[in-house]
Amino acid sequence: MSPPKHLTGDKAGIEEFLSRFDVFLFDCDGVLWSGDHLFDNVAETLEMLRSKGKQLVFVTNNSTKSRADYKKKFDKMNIPAKVEEVFGSSYSAAVYIARILKLPGPKNKVFVLGESGVEQELDAEGVSYIGGTDSAFRRDIEPEDFTNLANGSALDPDVGIVLSGLDFHVNYLKLATAFQYLQRGAVFLATNTDSTLPMAHSLFPGAGSTGAGLVKAIGKEALSLGKPSQAMMDAVEGKFHFDRSRTCMVGDRLNTDIQFGIEGKLGGTLAVLTGVSKKEEFLAEGAPTVPMAYVDALGDLLG
Ligand code: PLP
Ligand code: CA
Repeated sequence: MSPPKHLTGDKAGIEEFLSRFDVFLFDCDGVLWSGDHLFDNVAETLEMLRSKGKQLVFVTNNSTKSRADYKKKFDKMNIPAKVEEVFGSSYSAAVYIARILKLPGPKNKVFVLGESGVEQELDAEGVSYIGGTDSAFRRDIEPEDFTNLANGSALDPDVGIVLSGLDFHVNYLKLATAFQYLQRGAVFLATNTDSTLPMAHSLFPGAGSTGAGLVKAIGKEALSLGKPSQAMMDAVEGKFHFDRSRTCMVGDRLNTDIQFGIEGKLGGTLAVLTGVSKKEEFLAEGAPTVPMAYVDALGDLLG
């Protein structure tokens, strides 16, 4: 495998790299912005790519927001983007449930561990659900809950799917309820399985960490609908119909974004060093996930 090309400051190298692709899949946090801080020259770089006729898709693992929430964030950041260009893991999960899994009538309800982003996308796809932000589940577990969960009287017989995403109100009642559905054969899905998420210049437990209790309890992994899962790649491709060999994944995280592009056999991967992964991780001898090229910051593509 050839070492990744450092494109920062290499005008000819950038031109040549960009010419290989028609479509760019962009990770958001860590590439375009960090929390509420927009990185330098991001809007200008995206505009430059659009002016060259490139198609842009924003592929984020953040399930707490819907595509509409993301559109608002792009607007706040003054970055032109259409809601149709956003592909979040909550949308990915909703599309998978509604259009691919298509469980028969009485078993198509979802028990949600997650925030309103998941609920909005399930609503948009016409999928019914319980849990989520419902205050009935945001409370301590009581002794009678154990009895009612065990004998099934506290369970909805229509629930055939457990969807695990980042839930800022995760608690034992929700985990115990989800586990009961899983023991009764519910399909186990995750919006994403990121171990951590970056916030306030630090890392916090991500959806993969809060969902790990269920994985441990049931003894199997959830099918993830977020990066690097190829279920998400298939869903993105199903919507945008791109030629994978002419598509490049741009991201800050090796084990989600860059792995997503490599496993998806995309024509290229570009790591951006403004986020979670450091260049030492992919420049090291025997590194498991190596991008095709990297820049110190996205704005460096302006040359
Ligand atoms: N999940 C959550 C809840 C987040 O807040 C974030 C980043 O803000 C992510 C995942 C990672 O998002 P991305 O894939 O855009 O880096
Ligand atoms: Ca990221």
